[in-house]
Amino acid sequence: MATIGFIGLGNMGAHMARNLIKAGHDLKVFDLNEQTVQYVAQAGAKAADSAADAATEVEFVVTMLPVGANVRSVLQDAGVIDAVAPGTVLIDSSTIDVDTARAMHEVVAEAGYEFLDAPVSGGVGGAEAGTLTFMCGGDQKVFAKCRPILEGMGKNIVRCGGPGQGQVTKICNNMIAGITALACSEAFVLGETLGVDRKVLFDVISTSTGNSTILNLMCPVSGVTDNVPANNGYKPGFAAGLMLKDLRLAQAAALTAGTSTPLGAAAAAAFAIHDANGNSHLDTSSIIKVIKPDIE
Ligand code: NAD
Repeated sequence: MATIGFIGLGNMGAHMARNLIKAGHDLKVFDLNEQTVQYVAQAGAKAADSAADAATEVEFVVTMLPVGANVRSVLQDAGVIDAVAPGTVLIDSSTIDVDTARAMHEVVAEAGYEFLDAPVSGGVGGAEAGTLTFMCGGDQKVFAKCRPILEGMGKNIVRCGGPGQGQVTKICNNMIAGITALACSEAFVLGETLGVDRKVLFDVISTSTGNSTILNLMCPVSGVTDNVPANNGYKPGFAAGLMLKDLRLAQAAALTAGTSTPLGAAAAAAFAIHDANGNSHLDTSSIIKVIKPDIE
């Protein structure tokens, strides 16, 4: 069992940290929000005074923060890299831009430590159940060291390649998910407007070539299939604001790569309009409101 500093105990991180405790690891935890620190401390973690304190005298540091700027500021400005002991491995599970992930690999390596980018999919439910998928980027030996730690929080642990490749894989997946959510929305509004019952549309499309995981888990209209956010006023699920963030990360990565992503760009634009309309707190499937604002 390992000693782990865990920084960033939000919707995802609090569950992930608690699962590491359940798996038998010793945790020191830190977040700017004192309440969530106490929530994880109640499960048996030591509450640290700062990010640097959480990173002191531990074998692993896990960060689960909103965006790349947060990861950079915690690792560099808040002194995590300066605080860690020789041999400590840093794992970043936040979804961040590929350029920052690669820069963090370099900064940590220059300081003499090891780093793995390891973003996740599976949402808050997967974080709570300990069934997350980890998409990892970094050296094979570092990945092998981190695997037992990641297994305390997830079921599917994959090395996608070298530095930053976990983040690349994550945004490729979410770009498809965002495009598909928009495609499903266009089809349901089109079909229903021309008089086909939404239940008929769902039953046929979900057993035809238009079927997808997104259609099944996030059908954009209510009353046609069980357990989708549309049945519950589009309560997330995976918030549209987070999807916008990931689609923008995909656009930034496409710029770096020099590849064209016309559908990714269209989806990013649609989710930006949805955000401007005040809908970022709703589930991703609510993107149908860009096509038909009063739909339910
Ligand atoms: P969140 O906003 O709920 O949690 C982030 C936490 O980081 C907050 O508690 C915040 O106080 C803390 N924080 C921010 N700056 C800090 C600092 N300088 N020092 C210490 N703590 C700091 O976000 P989340 O939903 O837990 O997501 C975390 C990451 O995981 C994001 O990158 C997100 O895109 C990704 N992700 C989220 C989901 C999801 O369904 N929520 C799914 C997959 C991936």
